[in-house]
Amino acid sequence: MTAYKKHKICLIYTGGTIGMHRDINGTLRPPGNPAYFLEIAPELRESAEFDFVPLLNKDSANMNPGDWGIIAKTIYERRNNGYSGFVVAHGTDTMHFSASAVAFALGKNLNFPVVFTGSQTAPDVLHGDARINLLRAFKVAGTDIAEVVICFGDYVFRGCRAQKKDERRFDAFESPSFFPLAHITENIIINDIAMKRKTKNEDIDLKNDFSGGIIQIPLIPGLEPELLLHLLYDDKCKGIILQPFGAGNVPNESPCSWVDFIEESTMRGKPVLFAGQFSANATLHSSYATGKAAIDAGAVPTGNMTSACAAVKFRWALAQAEKTGSDKKAKSEKIREMMNTVYIGEFN
Ligand code: ASP
Repeated sequence: MTAYKKHKICLIYTGGTIGMHRDINGTLRPPGNPAYFLEIAPELRESAEFDFVPLLNKDSANMNPGDWGIIAKTIYERRNNGYSGFVVAHGTDTMHFSASAVAFALGKNLNFPVVFTGSQTAPDVLHGDARINLLRAFKVAGTDIAEVVICFGDYVFRGCRAQKKDERRFDAFESPSFFPLAHITENIIINDIAMKRKTKNEDIDLKNDFSGGIIQIPLIPGLEPELLLHLLYDDKCKGIILQPFGAGNVPNESPCSWVDFIEESTMRGKPVLFAGQFSANATLHSSYATGKAAIDAGAVPTGNMTSACAAVKFRWALAQAEKTGSDKKAKSEKIREMMNTVYIGEFN
């Protein structure tokens, strides 16, 4: 039998199927008492010493940007408590959003693993993945990886490069434009591309605010910009994510041209971001006239970021841009500059 080296881990529970109970109608719900979560894998104590933080108890469909900030702050406040790493138990539906958000909030000086995990099946499914994913996440939290990751099935992915790909299969996540950071076998085989712990490192500069007021619009043929023109005059709307066709193409012929909409929105300090309609393996840099017209009008492309990561980064960048003053053009420029900067390996 393999002897585990005992690390000290902080286990943060936020909810998700991994901790859910079935009620008498068969509906899956978060448990009445989050402490029940520890019952899913009594052998956790054999694999590591750990502290348990029952932070939230939600279906991750109910996670919001405020929750992302709370998870990041909880980790930040415990960063010097002698943990080798953190495990965050989380629902799969929005895990890739939360993992991206926590990665932006903790930033490039993160010097330990923050391991998000969850499961496709509730703990009462004996052959399911709840128990095993949790045990594997504990193992990864003891490695030298110094990033926010998603540990799921047989892989460890960079959190901000991952996205959910399936609702049932145990390999629920993928990383369409970046290799997995590690493979889970008897040992954790870490790839060279993973960021590792450094012996000398600066402290984390916590930036855990995320703006509200963002809307995402997937284009379909014939979608009239007039239907959404009111957003440009609504103070609650801070920014727009447009999902163009192909590698970043939008209609540029009337009556459905989006070019004027993009220009007007950018001028009004509501930046228009481009995020792909499909997997993040395109560069979102179109060589077509329909793409060029949009970029010339002010649209901000997001390279090969996943659309989840692009949305989170947009909220994060907007929260910071809003603190810099009220000049609308300057705000749009600041967002463009931030979206073009790589902070945590979110695109290449
Ligand atoms: N709806 C659940 C959640 O995201 C799904 C899951 O955890 O797999 O919390």
